Amino acid sequence: MSNLVLYRKYRPQRFEDVINQEHVKTTLQNAIINKRVGHAYLFTGPRGVGKTTMARILARALNCQNRTGAEPCNECEMCKQLLIGSSLDILEIDAASNTGVDNIRELIEHVQYAPSQASFKVIVIDEVHMLSKGAFNALLKTLEEPPAHVIFVLATTEVHKVPATIVSRTQRFDFKRVSVSDLSKLLEFVVSDNKLSIDQEALVAIAEAADGSFRDGLSLLDQIISYSSGKITLGLIEEVLGFTSKQALMQFMDLITSDKTALAVGFVSQLNYRGRDLFQFHKDFMEFLRKLLLAKISKETDAYPGLPLNRLVAIIEAFQKAGSELKWANIPSLPLELAVVELTQTDAGLTRNVAEDFSPPKNGSLKTSATDNETLQKVLDHWPQILEKVKDYNHSLISSMKLAEPVEVRAGELILLFPYKFHKDAIEARKNRIIIDQAIEEAVGVKIMAKPILKNEWKGAEPNAENQTLNSAIKILGGDIQN
Ligand SMILES: [Zn+2]
Repeated sequence: MSNLVLYRKYRPQRFEDVINQEHVKTTLQNAIINKRVGHAYLFTGPRGVGKTTMARILARALNCQNRTGAEPCNECEMCKQLLIGSSLDILEIDAASNTGVDNIRELIEHVQYAPSQASFKVIVIDEVHMLSKGAFNALLKTLEEPPAHVIFVLATTEVHKVPATIVSRTQRFDFKRVSVSDLSKLLEFVVSDNKLSIDQEALVAIAEAADGSFRDGLSLLDQIISYSSGKITLGLIEEVLGFTSKQALMQFMDLITSDKTALAVGFVSQLNYRGRDLFQFHKDFMEFLRKLLLAKISKETDAYPGLPLNRLVAIIEAFQKAGSELKWANIPSLPLELAVVELTQTDAGLTRNVAEDFSPPKNGSLKTSATDNETLQKVLDHWPQILEKVKDYNHSLISSMKLAEPVEVRAGELILLFPYKFHKDAIEARKNRIIIDQAIEEAVGVKIMAKPILKNEWKGAEPNAENQTLNSAIKILGGDIQN
């Protein structure tokens, strides 16, 4: 994330302004007031929660010429120099790009000299776990016998990678993730400070997407503000950031757990239609499911109390599989739609539910209606294209599909006759039927459920001479499709 204007602007300048890290700031403030500041601190915790910010406040508090309690004045000469970064007495290095032993030797040389103006030199080493072994050894020697005027602040997101010998020579502070409610409060303040307004659900969506990080939260807000001219809405956030809000993910989850096949498939189609990144959506949904799983295992949450663990696991497995198919799919939405159908349909209920869901004629009549005839006509007109699409999805299906004879549309179903059981069975497999339905929808623009029937078991369509003629025509067309 590159957009850090707001993050810099709203970075806390005093201990008092730091939210969410009470334990850290209280301990540091007491140490300053009691003049018992340690020589080396280890700040651990997720990215963007204020570790470097805290180190800077500490550096100013230690050197301020006009301190009140533990708070720096931020106005004296020392504070000003530290604030604009022109002081040589605070040194921030990023271990990620200065991993070598030479970088640390240089640093150690620097700390041997007394501060030029300040009382303390504060050395901040960010992402300290990135240092090389040699660099750690060089640092260790200095930490064992630190010059009196030097304070080290080592910051890391991955404390387990910091050698125990280093950790044991520091005072360790664990920074917490920022809670959604604390982050929401801050974001709300920043929004109104910028003369904008924001919906409550939009606020929560950003706070949740920031995943406990001030920096990420403000960076996300930065991006949204540049697109917004007044009110920030959830819709705008989803459009701009391309992520799926938790509300939307919960809505999708509700549709799956309540077996609303058509609506859940429609949800995916809508995302696709609106040009949303389905990989990102898949990633968001997997993360959502993972959190739900962890919460359920640890019995932390009341979310989806009626959802059994094994059902949740089945949902995770189905979408895990869809994810691996996503990058090979000719139609990116298809693996996700298949997962939805698999999860929301039982074999026994498949025909009935899908027929219900995919908008059958509402008059309850099972007779072929005029609209059904039109639909059949469209299918017949586009049969070669439909077969091409089926072939694109699944090459091995085409040999069976070439034998299919579309004869009737009734109650949301397209009857396909097959001369042999082998081919009928191949098409009957649920996944294959979904492919055919998808191909039909794309070629003809109607949602319909393919229903394979053995030719000699079919009792015949409603009499319709026109259909018979078309059927003959389509047989010829279908026969022309080459493997
Ligand atoms: Zn000051």
